[in-house]
Amino acid sequence: MLCGNDIAKAKALLEAGDVVAVPTETVYGLAANALNPKAISKIFSVKGRPDFDPLIVHAATKEAAFAWAKDIPDEALALAEAFWPGPLTLVLPKIKAIPAEVTSGLETVGLRVPNHTILKRLLETLDFPLAAPSANPFGYISPTTAEHVADQLRDRIPYILDGGSCTIGLESTIVGFVSGSAVILRPGHIKKEDIGQVLGYIPERSESPGERPAAPGMLSSHYSPKTPMEWMEGKHLPKRKEGALYFSNRPQGMYGSYEILSEQGSLMEAARRLYGCLRNLDKLGLQKIWVEIIPEGIGNAEALKDRLNRAVGKAPFTP
Ligand code: AMP
Ligand code: MG
Repeated sequence: MLCGNDIAKAKALLEAGDVVAVPTETVYGLAANALNPKAISKIFSVKGRPDFDPLIVHAATKEAAFAWAKDIPDEALALAEAFWPGPLTLVLPKIKAIPAEVTSGLETVGLRVPNHTILKRLLETLDFPLAAPSANPFGYISPTTAEHVADQLRDRIPYILDGGSCTIGLESTIVGFVSGSAVILRPGHIKKEDIGQVLGYIPERSESPGERPAAPGMLSSHYSPKTPMEWMEGKHLPKRKEGALYFSNRPQGMYGSYEILSEQGSLMEAARRLYGCLRNLDKLGLQKIWVEIIPEGIGNAEALKDRLNRAVGKAPFTP
């Protein structure tokens, strides 16, 4: 069986240095022993991930996560207290035990305590942390169900721990520290305003363009379907063999292939459904997917806009 909820099987495979797909509240991850360079190299080869793209390390508790970091700023402790377990990754100076393969040679490591019951139980039974990027081929849409993982990686991995649909559906917010101040390396479910509540200031967004981005989730084309995508102007009616992704409603007279992110106009629901909707449209062999621009005034849609920009490969949004 490729999929199931057998924690003992996942544990045995991981202890043997193999990879296992695991559920988290954000997206499914492709996990391996973060202390074993050979196991780590399997993640990169299964995903076709470039070796400059470092992995996030997952642990069961705050204490277990911070054991892999040193010189931890007080602000990182405060953010962990406020948001762990949860969709926040903290980039901190690493200790030697974390192999260079995990961090792509960087002296920092991305750490997270995921908020998912099955994954927590698995992490508690292991005596090593799990490095886990999203369980999809590099650059493609991230998976939010076990079926999404199976669709693409069934021949390449031995087991998928099935934990149902991801409740958040977008990758974690990544926070790093530059001269003691927090910066947002990738927007996510935890908003900069939420972080501002804890720190007393709203952190800046830090982009580091070029060939070696600080967080490759920042690559201008990422999280993308194979079908070409384009921004709509207004409410566009796609032609035959074209599809559309609408935010909360479709235009009158709409026929053909479309998905609606959230009929209620809820940002949470839209985020949770985004990758599944893109996958559904991408399966249809369409010539183009038109994407509605997220309407103004519906609240802070920074992470959703960021992922849509990268899926389309260019931005009408400056999130
Ligand atoms: P993924 O899990 O595929 O969404 O990718 C994890 C993201 O975390 C990537 O974009 C990484 O670049 C980022 N990341 C992990 N470790 C670090 C680090 N030490 N410094 C900066 N970004 C990191
Ligand atoms: Mg990814």
